[in-house]
Amino acid sequence: MHPPLDSNTRNQIRGLEDLLHQKEAQLALLTEIAEIVANEEGLDTAFAIIAERARAQLDAKTVTIPLLSPDQTSYTYRAAAGLNAEELTGAELPIEVGLCGWVLRHRKPWWRGTLESLEENERNYWEKKAGNIILVPLVGKRHFLGGIAAIDKQDDSNFTEHDLELLVMFSRQIGLAVENAMYVEELQITTERMEAYRKQLEQSIQQLAKTNEDLEHLALHDPLTGLPNRSLVIDRVQQAILTARRNQKPMALLMLDLDHFKEVNDTLGHLVGDKLLICVGERFQNSLREPDTLGRLGGDEFAVVLPRANQKDALIVAEKLRDALQHPIDIDQNSFSIAVSIGISIYPDHGSDPSSLLRSADIAMYVAKRTRNEFSVYQPEYDAYNPDHFSLLHDLREAIRQGEISVAFQPIFDLHNDTVTGMEALARWHHPEMGDIPPYEFIPILEQTGLIKAFTLQILEKTIEYCMYCQQHDMELKVAVNLSIRNLRDDKFPEQISEIISRYSFNCQQMILEITESAIMHNPKHSLGMLKHLDEMGLKLSVDDFGTGYSSLNYLKRLPLNQLKIDRSFIKDMAKNEDDAMIVRSIIELAHNLGLNTVAEGVEDKQTLEQLRTLNCDMVQGYLVSRPLSPDGFLHFMTSSPWATRFTVPLTDADD
Ligand code: C2E
Ligand code: CA
Ligand code: CA
Repeated sequence: MHPPLDSNTRNQIRGLEDLLHQKEAQLALLTEIAEIVANEEGLDTAFAIIAERARAQLDAKTVTIPLLSPDQTSYTYRAAAGLNAEELTGAELPIEVGLCGWVLRHRKPWWRGTLESLEENERNYWEKKAGNIILVPLVGKRHFLGGIAAIDKQDDSNFTEHDLELLVMFSRQIGLAVENAMYVEELQITTERMEAYRKQLEQSIQQLAKTNEDLEHLALHDPLTGLPNRSLVIDRVQQAILTARRNQKPMALLMLDLDHFKEVNDTLGHLVGDKLLICVGERFQNSLREPDTLGRLGGDEFAVVLPRANQKDALIVAEKLRDALQHPIDIDQNSFSIAVSIGISIYPDHGSDPSSLLRSADIAMYVAKRTRNEFSVYQPEYDAYNPDHFSLLHDLREAIRQGEISVAFQPIFDLHNDTVTGMEALARWHHPEMGDIPPYEFIPILEQTGLIKAFTLQILEKTIEYCMYCQQHDMELKVAVNLSIRNLRDDKFPEQISEIISRYSFNCQQMILEITESAIMHNPKHSLGMLKHLDEMGLKLSVDDFGTGYSSLNYLKRLPLNQLKIDRSFIKDMAKNEDDAMIVRSIIELAHNLGLNTVAEGVEDKQTLEQLRTLNCDMVQGYLVSRPLSPDGFLHFMTSSPWATRFTVPLTDADD
């Protein structure tokens, strides 16, 4: 289908592919490390992943990560991957010993070529001793951390200078992330170590003290409200449990969630939402006493740790917290009446460690929200209400059966015609008791249970119905519908979609099916068959969230695709971040070279839109143009918004 490419273009594509590959892998790895550390899975997991990534990149039998001890007299294999990984991990050796020792002492890379630079004695020694190894230093911003060593190629060939360059680059990329992660870990483990660290840098002690403070605060506090974050809350719960156990007294944990906060955030914007959270935090804080800890767990979720409190005390505090929000909060001329749902769990009745207490309080809060009681104390029967248990699934099944899932439409703006030419259909579920439930909460449940198949067909049908309605108003728009990985596996899917299309005599050419990059690449061979089938039916295919998965570019070329949707994470900061802008540029060029058009997702400001226009992006979608709209809202938008009016024929009164 694609036009033939000359060798120049092919080389260009290959260059771009390589670059993109590197950038993607680099980004994915850094994100992964940051996530692992943030999720408190700990450094060991992060290091194991790093070792495995390096091993795969170099095609080595073994990769080890030797780290210098704080006094620099020894090193420890903090992680290893591949052959003998288990035996190696954890081994500690004096700095005088081995090739690792050599590299850590000399602080420069080792590979076979290094031999030539050595004096005769040393050269003879290492010539016999060093096997097929490359070893490069791992350096952070402030510290020499250790090294990364690759031992033996899988195919038993010698490591090349290119391998050395790869490893040096790899090590440079992760150095800073590793150092930051290690630093946070250190802070948490021992204050002693921090003392030693301070002494080491006596001259710049003042500046350093400030840096330390900031870092510690950052690691343990929520930047928006300045309240303790989840880690610190968990720590306080742990302390309270220990004290309670010693005194054989109870303690209580309260979990608080604001009602309908999301609506405020969505309608009035994050700035207002943020201010509201800060005010709410202050109100809560003012109704607590000295030993109590108020923290923000994330989003609109707060927690209160009450050392020495029993259930009765906890209920009294819950009442105070509720009353703290009795008076409306004024922000920028708006007055907000906001309510809170509170779940309570008590040690030792509802859990004996922080995570089970948190879980119990969470479930109780969920019940409070569901039953519209302001607070509820955990009971074992409530486990059935656990959001990730059956009840939501039950409601969801019912909602699909009753056709209660609705569809919102977000305009897609064409940069060539300067008008809206299409839209994306996005599912919306309004739960009768819990209010709007966002897709990222219910789509995974649908996917796990297979309900997604019926669901997708329902969305497709509603969307087509709506398109026909738009056509009656003289609007012929392209429409994108999201598919799930399960639809790709479902051999009946093409037939079912074709049945709906012919039932409505809908023009296939208008329909674009969006499939996430990770779903396509999960099993590209299988995807190929399904996508070919859909392509032959005349449907258009788009790769959603492009840039977040690991695309096999080989397959990208072979799959019958029409479009790449560049993930919001790259668009978000591209105006400020050159790396992101560079990635976006590469993706657009790659797409065009492959004959695909591009949509940038999540465009929120004019500057980004203009930047994308310069980069030759074809379409944009995002809050700048419009949020997803109800069907009526979309029609109104098309006839009144300057983004769209060039395209549409105005409605006559009779149509209203
Ligand atoms: P997606 O396909 O990447 O859809 C775009 C999401 O980004 C939508 O969130 C949209 O509201 C949001 N968005 C659009 N412009 C902006 C912007 O400028 N800034 C920000 N911050 N966000 C923006 P939504 O509707 O919550 O959907 C989330 C995800 O749920 C979708 O991501 C998609 O993966 C999934 N989803 C939604 N509807 C369906 C469906 O019918 N079927 C399937 N399989 N998945 C769906
Ligand atoms: Ca999508
Ligand atoms: Ca997307």
